[in-house]
Order: sequence, then C-alpha cells, then structure tokens
Amino acid sequence: MSGNAAMNDWLKAFNLDRPLLIAGPCSAETEEQVLVTAKALQNTDTNVLRAGIWKPRTRPGNFEGVGALGLKWLLKAKRETGLLTTTEVANPIHVDLALKHEVDILWIGARTSVSPFAVQEIAEALKGTNKIVLVKNPINPDLSLWLGALERFYKTGIEQLGAIHRGFSSYKDSLYRNIPEWQIPIDLRQELPDLPLILDPSHIAGDRKLIFDLCQTALDLNYNGLMIETHPNPDQAWSDAKQQITPETLAAYTRKLKVRKKSS
Ligand code: PEP
Ligand code: MN
Repeated sequence: MSGNAAMNDWLKAFNLDRPLLIAGPCSAETEEQVLVTAKALQNTDTNVLRAGIWKPRTRPGNFEGVGALGLKWLLKAKRETGLLTTTEVANPIHVDLALKHEVDILWIGARTSVSPFAVQEIAEALKGTNKIVLVKNPINPDLSLWLGALERFYKTGIEQLGAIHRGFSSYKDSLYRNIPEWQIPIDLRQELPDLPLILDPSHIAGDRKLIFDLCQTALDLNYNGLMIETHPNPDQAWSDAKQQITPETLAAYTRKLKVRKKSS
C-alpha cells in the first residue's frame, strides 16, 4: 500500500496549518466530566475529543470503562462544542455502537493491534464505511505487526488510516511507562510515507512531567498529530491519573511547542 496518495487525504481535508490535536480524558467517567472537558478544550487548539468508553486493562479488577452509555455523552459533547469525537473499539459490537453514535474517528488500542484475528474482525465490521481509523502500535516492539494491522484495514477498503505511536512495553526499568523506540515509527514512515503519524505522549510517559518534551521530539520529527490525555482534575481520574494534564496545561504546551515549517 506504500505511496498511495489516498491514504492521507483525510488529514488534508482538515486544512490545518499545524499538527492535528486530539485531546480528552483517558476514560469517559461521567456525563459532566465529558462535557466539562469538551467545553474547556474549546479554548485550546483541540480538533478532536478523545475518551475511552471500553478500557482494556492489563489486570482485571480495575475500572474497565462506562461502556456504551459513554457514547451518548460523546455525542452530546460533539453537538454542544462542534469538536469531532474519537474512541477505542476492540470488537465488531463496539464498531456498530460507535457508528450508531456518530463517532468520527475510531482508534485501535495497543492490546488489540497485536491480534490479527481481532483486527480482521474490526476491519470487516467497518467495510464500506470509509471511516478514519487510527492504529496504535502493538504493545510489543514489532514493526511487522503494526504494518500488518494497517494492511488489514487497507485491504478491507478502509483507506483513511493513521498510525499512533504510544510506545512499547519492556520488562526493564525505564524512565518511561512505555519505551518510545523512536526508530520503529521512523521505519514505519519509511514503508508508508503518506500515512499520518500521531504521537500519544501520555501512554509513553506514564507521568505528566515528560509530556512536553515528548511532544517537541515528535514535532521535530515532523509527526502529523498529537493525542494527549486531558482531564479537568487529573489526580482524580479513574484511569491513568499520573499522566493526564488539564486543558489549561494543554493550551500552555501548544503555545510553547515549536512546529517545524513545512518545506514545500
Ligand atoms: C488509551 O488510549 O487510553 C489506551 C488504553 O491506550 P493504549 O491502547 O495505548 O494502552
Ligand atoms: Mn489511558
């Protein structure tokens, strides 16, 4: 699929003069939290509101998302703010519900993009929809698996694709929750030069102190977008509390981040 110009048309249609900004909470918690976040994000450069509805947690016993109810909150937030919406889907039932609730962009989580059968089922559920699908890197540092997941969508006729770099698991101690391994997305780009590439610094960092520098590194590498977990009260978040930032911090960061001028 390399070199297919259709692959990045969807981002061109956004007509942005800076990278795409996706922001919002790790998880939708309550209707109020989703709406308060969305309204606060209207004062930032955010283009797309994110919120996890179904949360695949590594260990059982943690908050696993509010489920389909949260889709109604996302739809309300979209209607009240004009922001586009995105959420994670991990099976065809999620796809069906997300489509019914007018979610604009779907993303495939790192624990799903490792599984070819799951990816294939999701791709088939999306056949004929022309949805924008963002595929997170698999949790393990395997470029082929990431490429394979993208190819499964492409071969099913889903051409509006993007990749999200969220770092890779390691058993070693590290500053990061997930090691960036910048070379892997660079190699992905080599294979698919037109594919929009988005950084998720939140899941790489695991700690809000590291977010800004990760964003700047991605912009220096000419990434096409950022997806940043944002919560009105990060320390009280029901998931990923340590890595979320407030909408005000997000606005301060985007003012300070240096975007490379496109050489054309
Ligand atoms: C998320 O975006 O909240 C999430 C669970 O991400 P990942 O699949 O990257 O762990
Ligand atoms: Mn999260």
